[in-house]
Amino acid sequence: MYSQILSAAICGLDVVPIRVEADVGSGLPQFIMVGYLNSQVKESSDRVLTAFQNSNLQLPVSRITINLSPGDVPKSGTRFDLPIALAVLAASQMIPQTSLHSVMAIGELSLNGSVNGINGVLPSTIEAQKAGVRQILVPAENLSEARAVKGIEAIGVASLTEALAFLRNGDLPPASLKDSPPPIDQVSRSVDFKDIRGQEDVKRAAIIAVSGFHNLLLIGSPGAGKSMLAKRIPTILPPLSLEESLEISRIYSIAGLLDPHHPIVESRPFRSPHHTATPQAIVGGGRIPLPGDVTLAHRGVLFLDELPEFSRTTLETLRQPLEDRTITISRTSGTYCYPADFLLLAAMNPCPCGYYPDRNRCTCTASQIQRYQNRVSRPLLDRIDLTCFCREISYDELTGQDKAPTSSEQMRAEVSRVHKIEEDRFQGTPLRFNSEIPPAQIDRFCVLTPDAKERLKDAYQKLGCSVRTYHRILRTARTIADLEGCDLIGEDHILEAIHYQTPAELLTFH
Ligand SMILES: [Zn+2]
Repeated sequence: MYSQILSAAICGLDVVPIRVEADVGSGLPQFIMVGYLNSQVKESSDRVLTAFQNSNLQLPVSRITINLSPGDVPKSGTRFDLPIALAVLAASQMIPQTSLHSVMAIGELSLNGSVNGINGVLPSTIEAQKAGVRQILVPAENLSEARAVKGIEAIGVASLTEALAFLRNGDLPPASLKDSPPPIDQVSRSVDFKDIRGQEDVKRAAIIAVSGFHNLLLIGSPGAGKSMLAKRIPTILPPLSLEESLEISRIYSIAGLLDPHHPIVESRPFRSPHHTATPQAIVGGGRIPLPGDVTLAHRGVLFLDELPEFSRTTLETLRQPLEDRTITISRTSGTYCYPADFLLLAAMNPCPCGYYPDRNRCTCTASQIQRYQNRVSRPLLDRIDLTCFCREISYDELTGQDKAPTSSEQMRAEVSRVHKIEEDRFQGTPLRFNSEIPPAQIDRFCVLTPDAKERLKDAYQKLGCSVRTYHRILRTARTIADLEGCDLIGEDHILEAIHYQTPAELLTFH
């Protein structure tokens, strides 16, 4: 007898519907599996047969053939155990074949017949819903993930026996009778910019960076609070739209990083890989690559603390995502293109000891400082629109009671005003933020007052700007003008934008 059931394979970040076919016939007892399978999938036969025994399911002695179609899609993981088991049972007439119509199944089997949780349930359910499938059988522990998708009935099964009871008699398993915990609607923000006294100029740079989605570099001595400031940047990012939330949740589901109780990511990602992280960890690695930090930071912030400590190879790999907002990974199994649209936030000390330019405390020689700063390549710095110096705060700032520190809420209000301006400005174009304005369209979107033009010309000649720097100044000034609600970019906006440029050599600063 022949039987089939729908399942789904994860291929990079894509989900491909897979038909699991089983044929049970007379012949020598054998279990043959075909269909571009890796070793984990092939081991499925042992798990399935043992699970049958331990679930008191007696199969007639027979020759079992399994095919996972289409045959040109590589299949990996243990997610096909459950559909293979169900297809075999239907082909052995132990459950009606009609019960598998319009059903998708994914899940790993234990030897004792229980169904274990797997990664990638959310995107698989989305795919099932798109394919017009009526029901999806998933591991009970992944049920809330599957339930996040509307328009399809998700059934959480904890064991093969439960799956059978459902398919034979429609008995709902215990997990499916319970309600899933409601999604948290408000992200708990445990940190706030108001915790930080002083540093108002860094907060200003943060507002500009987030408003125009400009990359930001913080330079300062140890203890100046660079990391504290960086951690608070996500608190001023706009809330995720539902579409963005599903897009990010899908990535986290495949990476196995979703919280089983809150399967939908509701706050913007903040990824902070350590400087010893390998390039593979940053961009994504594996035979079929799992998403790396650049993809996990998609629509959020990628924070690189101690920037010069990262290896040159690692920093080089960031160039493509910073330019294209995607990352392309080539493997023998194919070429994978993952989203990687993040705000780059970096922090570094000005010198190896960290106290330059305070010559009373800095003990580094000029060449040591130079070598340290040169570890960050020019092409990377070229992609950072804003550089800001964090100074250690003075005693007066620390104890000052006269002025309340600016809070995340105040900053968010400014940011969202600019985002609204950008939305109107870029309507009908693929652009979303000022930092994305391509050189060819700079003149169209960045119109200067005559004074501002003079000032920029002056700076261009005196500072020996590169064309890239010139464009960076204009894009940053566009955002600063938007913050003031000005259509035209004025002289002050240009001056402030110049102030945030990375000097050709940091050494010459101050
Ligand atoms: Zn030093």
